[in-house]
Amino acid sequence: MDDIAMEDPGAVLEDRFGRQRSLARAEIEVPWPVRRDRLQRLRALLLEHEQEFAAAIAADFGARARQETRLLELFPSLEGIRHALGHTRTWMRPRARHTGRWFLPARSEVLPQPLGVVGIVAPWNYPLLLVAGPLTAAFAAGNRAMAKLSEFTPAFGARFAARAAEYFTAEELWVANGGVELAQAFCALPFDHLLFTGSTRVGGQVMRAASENLTPVTLELGGKSPALIGPSADFPKAVERIMAGKLLNAGQTCIAPDYVLLPEGRVAAFIAAARAFVATRYPGLGDPKAAAAQPDYTSIIDGAHFERLARLVEDAVSLGAERVSLADGAGTPFGRQFLPVVLTGVPASAQVMQEEIFGPILPLMPYRSLAEALAFVNARPRPLAFYLFERDARVIREVLHSTVSGGVCVNETLLHIAQDDLPFGGIGPSGMGAYHGEKGFETFSHYKPVFRQSRLNLMKLFLPPYGRRFDALVRVLVR
Ligand code: NAD
Repeated sequence: MDDIAMEDPGAVLEDRFGRQRSLARAEIEVPWPVRRDRLQRLRALLLEHEQEFAAAIAADFGARARQETRLLELFPSLEGIRHALGHTRTWMRPRARHTGRWFLPARSEVLPQPLGVVGIVAPWNYPLLLVAGPLTAAFAAGNRAMAKLSEFTPAFGARFAARAAEYFTAEELWVANGGVELAQAFCALPFDHLLFTGSTRVGGQVMRAASENLTPVTLELGGKSPALIGPSADFPKAVERIMAGKLLNAGQTCIAPDYVLLPEGRVAAFIAAARAFVATRYPGLGDPKAAAAQPDYTSIIDGAHFERLARLVEDAVSLGAERVSLADGAGTPFGRQFLPVVLTGVPASAQVMQEEIFGPILPLMPYRSLAEALAFVNARPRPLAFYLFERDARVIREVLHSTVSGGVCVNETLLHIAQDDLPFGGIGPSGMGAYHGEKGFETFSHYKPVFRQSRLNLMKLFLPPYGRRFDALVRVLVR
């Protein structure tokens, strides 16, 4: 691994970028065997160091179950690679397009080509998935890549960079670790494409930096993803799936349900079912007599984020909201485990309803009519995900057609992200562009239009001097 702290980071970045770029410009065609080999090496890197990566992530978080890292990071990464290995050859093929009738019998086609060198900036919440997923798409599309990992996951970052260097040359993949300054220098490189995953605030800064080089960006951002429990939902199932989606990684998930819109009068039932969920799925969580931390409940990434969550609750309570702990006993949490809590009676002006929560705090927002709930969603920035729980097909149709979000799950949370044939991305403040599966290939490819003239063609008829023949021809063709 390069220890870029030893040298001038900007110069190191430029050197690595320059080396990748000159090769990318020299070897423009990247045949399938090369792409397959890179994808297979990426898979081997993940599989052969799974335990090491999971342990490093657990160390970065303070606590995160190895199983949770497998379930949420390793498995989807491997499935994405598998999907790419199965389909890339088809995606790479030139695709025939219609040729305008004036130009027949010429042919038109679109030829996908690698962009060259792509940059990937990853956040800390799923440090493995959010570097492996973009890399899968970048390699499938035949690119070379540089990745910048988050300064909040230094243990994982160091392990991943070291191991990646054993599986890839620095000209294929180069991994950088560092803070904001390095991130800024990274985003200032003239990549052929830059995929950033992180907050909406930083996304704007990344786009500004990329614009200096006219580097196209894909921005995978965050936001407040609502869960809407419809009037005829299977209520117990809805609560179970919302709580499951909320408490994985302790709510530190870009597509976690951020708040719940539920029919008026169902708040108490929600709380009872949510408490039962926590007691069953995270037994002993918050028990003041427990001798050790609940092993399956992830910690908050650092003290500052923990304090931010505590402040969100305090702010809501100071504005009249009620806090209800979902953990039995609600004793002193271990380390940075933030015990799950619901908030009721939250004014829309509270901070917790203004910013992405990104933790195990769940505001419950009762509605009187479905129209009121939809108006609430549509009056706010377009979210990354939207979760609808409902059995009535007409209501499902109405909600799907009258809301706009990055993605949707009906009667589920999170799982749209795991479908390799669905594009994943946000809209407006929750993101720009998308990837996963074929959409990822498209994001990292240039679809070059090619027009092939035929030996027999009418072009001579359109040459000057135009005269009467031209007018006669146009009378036939323009109808
Ligand atoms: P962040 O925006 O603070 O940081 C993300 C990355 O950007 C880090 O690698 C960081 O070093 C880098 N960075 C920081 N300042 C920068 C700058 N000025 N210029 C360029 N890069 C800079 O985000 P985070 O706290 O690591 O992650 C949490 C956020 O990410 C949440 O908002 C979450 O919703 C979002 N997220 C989105 C997705 C998605 O797929 N849409 C996935 C995971 C997380």
